Amino acid sequence: MVDPLQSYASHLLDGKINLKSLLPQEMEQLMLDLGQPRYKWQQVWRWIYVRLVDDFEEMTDLSKDFRRRLSELTCVPSMALHLHQQSSAQDTDKFLFKMRDGSLVESVKMRYLESVGHGRIAICISSQVGCAMACSFCASGLAGLQRNLAAWEIADQVTQIQKAVQPLGQRVANVVYMGIGEPFHNYDNVMRSVRMINCGEGLGIGMRHLTISTSGLVPQIRQLAAERLPIRLAISLHATNDALRDEMMPVNRKWPISELLAACREYQQATERRITFEYVLLEGVNDSLAEAEALGKMLRGLHVLVNLIPWNPVEGASYQRSRPGRIRAFQERVEAFGPKCTVRQEKGADIDAACGQLRLRDMEGTARTRPARASRKSDQAHK
Ligand code: SF4
Repeated sequence: MVDPLQSYASHLLDGKINLKSLLPQEMEQLMLDLGQPRYKWQQVWRWIYVRLVDDFEEMTDLSKDFRRRLSELTCVPSMALHLHQQSSAQDTDKFLFKMRDGSLVESVKMRYLESVGHGRIAICISSQVGCAMACSFCASGLAGLQRNLAAWEIADQVTQIQKAVQPLGQRVANVVYMGIGEPFHNYDNVMRSVRMINCGEGLGIGMRHLTISTSGLVPQIRQLAAERLPIRLAISLHATNDALRDEMMPVNRKWPISELLAACREYQQATERRITFEYVLLEGVNDSLAEAEALGKMLRGLHVLVNLIPWNPVEGASYQRSRPGRIRAFQERVEAFGPKCTVRQEKGADIDAACGQLRLRDMEGTARTRPARASRKSDQAHK
């Protein structure tokens, strides 16, 4: 028989095979390598991702011998919930998870349910510890990149939030990769996590209910297009000319707007999926009517949704949020040129709602702490 530990060297955690690090087909192969029938992988997968169990003793439809063998050779780790905040309006929940190396990762449970349905919730998850992209308006970029998250650490944000909401009769139904980090900067692990949370034997979140948001990494947009998956794509655009976008988003110096839009056209031709363009509004910087017009014209010919984001103040950034009247006028002007344009509802301003702020505050020791408990309501982190 093959020595399982040797064959699964890249999945070892403390000398044991981390079952959460495996894709469905890898779990299936492991069961065969352990001399078990093929179908066992589904049983184990369901214990981990449906019943959300991490103790082999609780997996009672497996034989005692097999449970003992699993506990000798494998493990089912879980991220620790370090901090949980809920907004005073109970419309946003933020979760701060502590990794085994002490790194902090932030996820948000969102309340907007219009396209989700009763008891079904949407969450925003992180793909990296920190971010290398250094966007000038974003808290996540301020401390730089610490490391990529492993695929299981990305997927476990979903599993842990599912565990928190299950007693409330809720289910995670939509996942947005729009938390801390640039998902395409950690492409392989993000795509592995997609396959983990999509697996129908477990969390079963459909590809059409997954959104990946990028600051504009053109090669990875093309790579995703080539995968022909019905995942939703969101682009953090935030400026309509290269001079301003270079300043706000250094990634633009490598892949300017014209290249980004060309990749978006290719993505749309390949997938026929609508693309969301995120645009954070900064007073006097990118919120003029001329810019709204440029944005509307720029996106002609693409099937898009423009999502305007009122900026959440970030310490160390000298911007001002656009006034409501300017936001409305901007929205109307964009729509006059064709693209559907929405304004993101503001939620959870009292709990460090901007992406990465909770983590930054905790690192500085200034997070406004509430005891961890089961979540009730939600919102979205801001990219
Ligand atoms: S906006 Fe996104 S890509 Fe830019 S620094 Fe923040 S997390 Fe990174």
